[in-house]
Amino acid sequence: MRVFVVNSGSSSIKYQLVDVVSEQVALSGLLERLGQSGGDAADHESGMRVVLDRLGPEAASIAAVGHRVVHGGDVFTAPVVIDDEVVAGIRAVSSLAPLHNPANLAGIDAARLALPGVRHVAVFDTAFHQSMPAAAATYAIDRTVAAEHGVRRYGFHGTSHQFVAGRAAALLGRHLDDLKLIVLHLGNGSSATAVDGGRSIDTSMGLTPLAGLVMGTRSGDLDPGALLHLLRTGLSIDELDALLNSRSGLLGLTGSADMRDVMAAADAGDADAALALDVWAHRIRHYVGAYLAQLGGLDAVVFTAGIGENAPALRARALDGLGHLGLAIDADRNGSPSREARVISPDGAPVAVLVVPTNEELAIAQAAAALVG
Ligand code: ADP
Repeated sequence: MRVFVVNSGSSSIKYQLVDVVSEQVALSGLLERLGQSGGDAADHESGMRVVLDRLGPEAASIAAVGHRVVHGGDVFTAPVVIDDEVVAGIRAVSSLAPLHNPANLAGIDAARLALPGVRHVAVFDTAFHQSMPAAAATYAIDRTVAAEHGVRRYGFHGTSHQFVAGRAAALLGRHLDDLKLIVLHLGNGSSATAVDGGRSIDTSMGLTPLAGLVMGTRSGDLDPGALLHLLRTGLSIDELDALLNSRSGLLGLTGSADMRDVMAAADAGDADAALALDVWAHRIRHYVGAYLAQLGGLDAVVFTAGIGENAPALRARALDGLGHLGLAIDADRNGSPSREARVISPDGAPVAVLVVPTNEELAIAQAAAALVG
């Protein structure tokens, strides 16, 4: 069974045709600069026609279309088959993700027009975290204001956290229902999730993907008073938004958002880069400790995404000094390069440490396939 996976941005369409049984990608591609001069198409609708042309006869093999949707608010707790009501529901929560949801909807509208004969499924970045208890999801502000504006923790990267948790259970040969996991999705965007019996019980991102860990360009956690302070210095809201989302994190601390540059600079003796790595690892340990407490036990820590999958030195740094919690890494296992899911803790360690490659497109394809049967 083949699922066509669409990840539609404001000026781009990323797509993959995935066989959910063999897990092979039959075809993939990207349209960029939609609506701009010299771009690949004038808008999402004509872009989707270009994609269909590129698919050629392969289009006939599509059994379902899976769409990545960033924000499902507290309405969508699982993937859903898209109809007009679902489209309206996604539009209704768009104020929570004003850059992303409208772009996702443009892709959905265009794909439903281009491929009217198959079912389309929306898979939400937030849905997996809807299982969080109120204690984890609630911000301690005026409850009327919070309710009126939907201000609560939602969490993101849910598709990845759920997929990686499932793969971790398979690797350990255990039932997900019986496992307490901390999943560290460390990429350009990064988040940590506590997964108890296959359910997210806490996660580091919040109302938006700005909270939590130190990221490529995003600040992660910050005293909300710092925002007030900066606004009072005369910074505009847009400037503050750009500062926190686009000019902070590794970029703000070092001048580069790319972890490889930061590591190279630190190795060359750059003090800013060395501090950035310290802050980055300190924040991860903060969440590992917190989630160990929230879970009341721990079977495994799971590393995934660009940094988590590819940077042994940073995996070691992230868990450095946590031996008293049962967390240890075997240097040889950690250092041997592999594309496969693997254990990097020593045999007999009380807590397993794993590296599990994420695959959000495959996860979306599997979710869509499971829904349409
Ligand atoms: P995105 O969130 O955009 O999907 P990725 O999961 O691809 O991001 O992660 C990108 C990050 O992974 C970048 O900071 C990049 O520097 C980092 N990265 C990729 N390969 C390595 C590596 N071998 N060592 C260290 N960092 C790496």
